[in-house]
Amino acid sequence: MRVPYSYLPRQFADPEPILDQIRNLVKRGDLTLGQPVEEFEQRFAALIGSRFAVAVGSGTDALFLSLKALGIGQGDEVITATNTFVATAGAIETAGARLVFVDCNDQFVMDPAALEAAITSKTKAVVPVHYTGQPAGMDEIEAIARRHNLEIVEDACTAIDGSINGRRCGTIGRTGAFSMHPLKNLNIWGDGGVITTNDPSIARQLRLLRNHGMVDRDTYAFYAYNSRLDTLQAVVGLQLLDQVTAITDKRIEIAARYDRAFADLDQIRIPLRYATQRHVYHMYMIEVDQRDGLLAYLKEQGISAKVHYPTPLHLQPASAHLGYGAGDFPVAEAQARRIISLPVHQYLSDEEIDYVISRVREYYQP
Ligand SMILES: *Cc1c(COP(=O)(O)O)cnc(C)c1O
Repeated sequence: MRVPYSYLPRQFADPEPILDQIRNLVKRGDLTLGQPVEEFEQRFAALIGSRFAVAVGSGTDALFLSLKALGIGQGDEVITATNTFVATAGAIETAGARLVFVDCNDQFVMDPAALEAAITSKTKAVVPVHYTGQPAGMDEIEAIARRHNLEIVEDACTAIDGSINGRRCGTIGRTGAFSMHPLKNLNIWGDGGVITTNDPSIARQLRLLRNHGMVDRDTYAFYAYNSRLDTLQAVVGLQLLDQVTAITDKRIEIAARYDRAFADLDQIRIPLRYATQRHVYHMYMIEVDQRDGLLAYLKEQGISAKVHYPTPLHLQPASAHLGYGAGDFPVAEAQARRIISLPVHQYLSDEEIDYVISRVREYYQP
């Protein structure tokens, strides 16, 4: 049996309904912004429960433009967790701010105590990452941000449909940044991102930032960027938006099966699960003994598991100028040697799930 990590061939085995919509669009010639993007933004905002949604070119741009809209750049410090996808850090640096890393906790999200310890007089914002789809500890982070007068930009790129203590990911910070990359839970046929906010002036600023600062065709408020969600991709997104809740529910169900199946294995550490949180399982990430051995064994057995990621960002060549070194963030560094992500996508069959479970168990209990 082969259990692939990617599900795109299954998801788009019949692309005709979406292609029909694209054909109509191309015939209308409505290829930048326009009605599909507006409709997509309205429905996305309704799904997340935010007042506004602004659709942009990628999740990375959603983070970058959020920082720009908040006036954050040169001379400012922005704090994020070292165990994130490269894009979180890239957006902070390209916005011109000083990147400051902190360690994560056993849930694979920012350690709030580490956040508070890293704040200086130059800190302007914190970018908590709902990594793997696990909501960051937003109650604590929000209290700290309030005490120190920091903006919060949520990296919700992997957390569409997530929530914590009744609050939806992407509605807690000043802005929330979402990605619709082909391997995110809401995916389109290329790159795309969305920024959510409840603040009308930030929403207005974001609409200008993503479209050359254009107030109208002939008036430019300031010089800015071109980062519009492609109208063609908005059409794809509109076809898939309604499926998000069902996709999350399916992923939660598969994760719960894995959790139960591995609960008795001493070699596996499953993060705590909280009834007050909706973890959307963009990844099913656990810590395991003999990680590289398990990874190789699963590969031999046709199961594509992954490591997200083997090197925390503070130890990457891209971080050399920041002056961090090995030992600075012990939790993230220890996890980097132990984490593994098993396939958890919504197209897995019961047989495939059972096969993954039996191979993992067999590795530890031959
Ligand atoms: C995917 C991702 C991003 C960036 O999204 P793109 O749409 O690929 O630019 C940012 N942060 C995290 C945590 C991500 O997983």
